[in-house]
Amino acid sequence: MATESGGLLSLRVFRQDDMPDLLAHARAGNAEAFMLAEALCGALQAISNAPRKAPMICGCCPRSFPKHPFSIVLALPEVDTPMTGLSVGICKRCATEPEDIRDKAVIALRKLFPDLRPVDLGHVHQGGRA
Ligand SMILES: [Zn+2]
Repeated sequence: MATESGGLLSLRVFRQDDMPDLLAHARAGNAEAFMLAEALCGALQAISNAPRKAPMICGCCPRSFPKHPFSIVLALPEVDTPMTGLSVGICKRCATEPEDIRDKAVIALRKLFPDLRPVDLGHVHQGGRA
């Protein structure tokens, strides 16, 4: 059981509208916001740096970014100072509300991590399997 926390990811949803707010907090010296902003900038850079012929696409459909409006979900290990994280882009056609965006991101992440068990999804019912 001690190793279980290694499989826990914390998911943060950022819609394009949320980004200026996060950056403002980061600039104001909020360490967590700064860390998230860095991860978010990395994700946005990856999207803008992707070759035109092989753009980043939505985690749930073939729509490409940044041609289509999108949200970013950061998946970070549930530890004090996460050193690594993943980002998933979800287009606005697939989801617009934070809960839906998160759900779609979980589906996308499960393709990579079948054992994924997000920790901050209060409405996802986990089985009693131990
Ligand atoms: Zn999509």
